[in-house]
Amino acid sequence: MLSSRLVIVTGGSRGIGAAIARRLAQDGYRIAIGCRHAGEAGEVLAAIGEEAGEAIALPLDVTREEEVDRFFAAAEERFGPLHALVNNAGITGPLGRFRDLDPTWMRRVVAVNLIGTMLCAQAALRHFASVEAEERSIVNISSVASQTGSPGEYVHYAASKAAVEAFTAGLAREVAAQRIRVNAVAPGTVNTGIHALAGDPGRPARVAPRVPMGRVGEPEEIAEAVAWLISGAASYATGAVLRVTGGL
Ligand code: NDP
Repeated sequence: MLSSRLVIVTGGSRGIGAAIARRLAQDGYRIAIGCRHAGEAGEVLAAIGEEAGEAIALPLDVTREEEVDRFFAAAEERFGPLHALVNNAGITGPLGRFRDLDPTWMRRVVAVNLIGTMLCAQAALRHFASVEAEERSIVNISSVASQTGSPGEYVHYAASKAAVEAFTAGLAREVAAQRIRVNAVAPGTVNTGIHALAGDPGRPARVAPRVPMGRVGEPEEIAEAVAWLISGAASYATGAVLRVTGGL
């Protein structure tokens, strides 16, 4: 078991974020999950509790800086100084051709995926600065879409994730001398509810034949990559984008 240090996981109530929260709790971290509907994190909190881990879920909309500040303060009050942040909260908006996309969705997707990631990263840096400690880190969840561009599906989403990767590269270099590592994990298609929310619950089955490994990923397979990047085993990794895509 590692020492019980705080890791914040945004969007940890379900899907990839829930798998990350559970996996990191297994490593001995104390987990603070932030999402808009914190009451929906019951299942992952119960699973962590059954495995003798410690976790809380608190309401957080990553697009609202005052909520971000309040959330980080409440998480530290409960579990002590912040060790790492996983910027996982993300949305796609509806599937379809870019030409037909309602601009409201462009703004919303960029607000959650990019601005939300940046607001939480900024809050993390402020909290890191308040305590002299060993190495800390941030992991941003990008997407294979940053490379493929997702034509015909959600190019606005792909653009937001490409920006997350550029942000990761720049911030990593900016804070490297402070012993803060900043990395990204770019999943391929993963079996979660995000596809149903985008209007196509059958998307994973449709995508699977295009994946060189012949299947989509499971949330737990993404969580492993995040756990490695946060751990001391990744002590020389910063500015990296770890693609976990089944070969896409
Ligand atoms: P899900 O839709 O299953 O879960 C999304 C999570 O984000 C939920 O906990 C949701 O909770 C939270 N969330 C959404 N909006 C906000 C907000 N404004 N503030 C705080 N939390 C928010 O998604 P996945 O698990 O599939 O995706 C997780 C991440 O992985 C995303 O960044 C996604 O882009 C990325 N990804 C996913 C892939 C996939 O195929 N599944 C592939 C590549 C990348 P609530 O609604 O209560 O706020």
